[in-house]
Amino acid sequence: MSSEKIYLDYNATTPIDSRVLEVMAKVAQENFGNPSSSHCFGRPAAEIVKKARLQVATVLNAEPEEICFTAGGTESDNLALKGVVLPYLLQGRKPHLIISAVEHPAVAESCHYLESLGALITTLPVAEDGTITPAQVVAAINDDTVMVSLMFANNETGVLFPVAEIAELTKYRGILLHTDAVQAFGKVEIDVKTLGVDLLSISGHKVYAPKGVGALWIRPGVELEPLFHGGGQERALRSGTENLTGMAGLGLASEILIAGMADEGLRIKTLRDRLESQLGMALDQQLVFHGHRQHRVPNTISLSVPYVDGESLLAHLDLEDIAVSAGSACSSGEHQGSPVLRAMGITPELAQGSLRISLGRWTTMAEVDTFVEKFTAIVHRLWAISPLYR
Ligand code: PLP
Repeated sequence: MSSEKIYLDYNATTPIDSRVLEVMAKVAQENFGNPSSSHCFGRPAAEIVKKARLQVATVLNAEPEEICFTAGGTESDNLALKGVVLPYLLQGRKPHLIISAVEHPAVAESCHYLESLGALITTLPVAEDGTITPAQVVAAINDDTVMVSLMFANNETGVLFPVAEIAELTKYRGILLHTDAVQAFGKVEIDVKTLGVDLLSISGHKVYAPKGVGALWIRPGVELEPLFHGGGQERALRSGTENLTGMAGLGLASEILIAGMADEGLRIKTLRDRLESQLGMALDQQLVFHGHRQHRVPNTISLSVPYVDGESLLAHLDLEDIAVSAGSACSSGEHQGSPVLRAMGITPELAQGSLRISLGRWTTMAEVDTFVEKFTAIVHRLWAISPLYR
């Protein structure tokens, strides 16, 4: 990354770690074999897949055979939801699912699709701090509920849902629980042996691995209808010749995560807290911070600047070579403000002036301080021309 540019949009995507890139290049150059081939080119390729599966499983305290590689978080979410629900629909039944109002479109849109095929969906509202309670889940469960899908950490606010507590309830009722852990993987510890969920999605490009690779962790015994049919790779759950370089990249990226999780989490949290408090002081406490203050991942800040439009703030920051995001990257084409913040009951005016700042592996204290300085100057300039600001 260029040293003058400041990247504070790690929740949108992360640069590939150079160690990961090196392994991927080596695999691409030296291992073009098909892992399904039994000859001397195929066998080393199969070994690469095996190693990557173990590396990913280790971060989750899972067994390697429980990992199904996919083409990213979106595919993992689709496989989890459609994989569970389609068999019920094929039998002519009307399965009921529970999700939250702040799920990523990969979950929400999969549910809309399933709804069009006859499934019934309950969407739980979130509180103003972006949280939900296990009691809300209990109240929504009925005799037809087959699945609950709730994200581990929100992509925009970083808020953590009480997934372990909810898992106790779903397990008791014999209902499957899926969690989209794309924004939590590598940021907080996840141990599937104690967490209690049944399915868990992750994505490579949020953890310094390439785009287009991810995984779904599947608890043994959970049956899924595959989305792709073909050569039977990934235990016939995801046919298609393996993305060898991507898997090797995600594997090493996972190994790197374990090595640095505790220290790196603390380092990023310290920078995040510094950024928040300096911004608050510099702008006379006029910013509105969104999301639960404690129950959140260490790298994410969601805030609104009153009387300022988020898109123009973003454009001014961009002119200074600073990258943050207005709402989530996936929904930034919309102009009514972030859907996640609107679901939290934030007024449209405030939601429109919202920004997501997300820190990562290469964020430095100098960058944080430069950001605060430039951001403050821009906000003062925008306030000066805002007819609403007094
Ligand atoms: N789920 C969450 C919470 C995300 O933040 C994202 C990406 O932004 C996805 C799923 C989709 O992952 P991918 O981009 O790998 O398809």
